Amino acid sequence: QVEQEVFNFQAEAVQILDLMVHSLYSNKEIFLRELISNASDAIDRLRLELLARSELPEAEGRLRIRIGYDKDAGTITIADNGIGMSREEVIQNIGTIAKSGTGEFLRSLTGDQRKDAAMIGQFGVGFYSSFIVSERVVLTTRRAGLEPSEGVRWESDGKGEYTLETIERPERGTTIVLHLRDGEDDLANGWRLRSIIEKYSDHIRVPILMPGEREDKAEEAAGTAGTDITVNRASALWARPKSELTDTEYNDFYRHIAGEPTDPLTWVHAKIEGTYDYTLLLFIPSRAPHDLWVPQARRGVRLHVQRVFILEDTGQILPNYLRFVRGVIDSTDLPLNVSREILQGSRAVGNIRTTAVKKVLKRLAELAESEPEKYTAFWKEFGTALKEGIADDYSNRNEIAKLLRFTSTKSATDDPDTSLDAYVARMKEGQEHIYYLLAPSSTAAKSSPHLEAFRTKGVEVLLLSEGVDNWVVSSLREYDGKELQSVAQGAGDLGALADEEERQTKEQADAEYADLLGKLKAHLAGQAWDVRLSTRLTTSPACIVSNEPEIDINLMQRMRGTGL
Ligand code: ADP
Ligand code: MG
Repeated sequence: QVEQEVFNFQAEAVQILDLMVHSLYSNKEIFLRELISNASDAIDRLRLELLARSELPEAEGRLRIRIGYDKDAGTITIADNGIGMSREEVIQNIGTIAKSGTGEFLRSLTGDQRKDAAMIGQFGVGFYSSFIVSERVVLTTRRAGLEPSEGVRWESDGKGEYTLETIERPERGTTIVLHLRDGEDDLANGWRLRSIIEKYSDHIRVPILMPGEREDKAEEAAGTAGTDITVNRASALWARPKSELTDTEYNDFYRHIAGEPTDPLTWVHAKIEGTYDYTLLLFIPSRAPHDLWVPQARRGVRLHVQRVFILEDTGQILPNYLRFVRGVIDSTDLPLNVSREILQGSRAVGNIRTTAVKKVLKRLAELAESEPEKYTAFWKEFGTALKEGIADDYSNRNEIAKLLRFTSTKSATDDPDTSLDAYVARMKEGQEHIYYLLAPSSTAAKSSPHLEAFRTKGVEVLLLSEGVDNWVVSSLREYDGKELQSVAQGAGDLGALADEEERQTKEQADAEYADLLGKLKAHLAGQAWDVRLSTRLTTSPACIVSNEPEIDINLMQRMRGTGL
């Protein structure tokens, strides 16, 4: 007998469903992109599972996505022969939102709608977009490897409840039937659906089939038309030669894989042949993903082996400081059943990693050189992440250092516009060090008494106010043979820049104030190491400096703040 069970959606799911339907209406077409992307993921996962058991996908029939429609019934059908779902998986994957970031998604939905419509792919709520155009959705599915009697039928109007039923389903995979809302009938149209697929899903590597057009009644009667046609190009874009690809194609591909509405800033596309053969197509986004600072956040480089998607990079391929890079790496050398453990020790992966990092850094250097506005945009979004590379990637330290941008006492605004090369080029005659000041904020930096003498002498000082800057200066230590020197540490002397006259004045003053200094020292015993007379200050009466080999005061303050 048929048993239908009623379930409630998780509370967040109801909220999301509701908001989505209302706020994404102006982008309603995206439902198809989301459902096709799920179908394609399901096929990728089936492929992997079969590979792990060393069965060829062909043995199970041609893998494809099929899109159908029925004008009269007002339905659209999306069917795949991918991995399918068990009953438990349906409850887990469709009835609940497991992923983080839903709160963020809800907030973003209330903002600029156009931007958010393209972002839903990032939040793991794509399936729900089907309710933008449907009053009822019926999903039937069977997990690969389960018996035909273990099929599942899920149905919902997206209002708070869904029903589940165990059914007989001979074929593996998932079929989704959308019952269109009143007024959405125009979507149940071959031409319309094809144009949506071309727009959003051309790069899906699985063939997307649609019933062929029946040109006229005679043809239909003769049965000569109506055979399936493949709507998408189903080609791996990265495998095509660079010369054949247009910027539009790259941009579309990026938006597709990154789930981002904006075009990338730039990309690297290279085919490497040698000890190891692989292709890489890596994009630098134009803005940071919402989870750039979430540890364990999703990465965006997908590893393929001979064009089959294998896994998403979790740090084996690109280092953490380049976690914002999106793209594809396709290797011919790795085994198809490669796992994360194998990746870890693989020489091929080591080689890919080295090259990929170098290529990205080189592309960034080119961008800084030839398109400075774009580079400024890049730095604004990702500069802080890139700075981590100074401490994390010793072998590319110099390349990364060249890419750094800081605010300095010579900057016109608060924007970081000074490279170390520019600083070095502006160094005063006789200046030996690259001077910097660490401060909790740029306002604090600019008003620091430590800068007075440097200002008077016209010596530029880099103003560092990000947490990560502490690690940058303590790891970098020098650039172009010039030591980095904090103006807040030790004597903070100007080296050869201090002139003879100053030295004499100081000697005189030291003698003159010896008595006062002695009293101050006695008074501050146990709190200050020393009390010295300084020539660095021009308007402030006193300032605190740290003992030379000791840790910087700014760092101490920060560490206290973090409770370390
Ligand atoms: P996401 O794709 O980001 O995970 P979705 O809301 O689009 O979020 O889908 C939720 C989950 O439902 C998927 O992760 C997957 O586990 C499951 N799912 C959706 N569609 C299918 C399908 N066609 N075949 C198998 N599983 C699917
Ligand atoms: Mg999805």
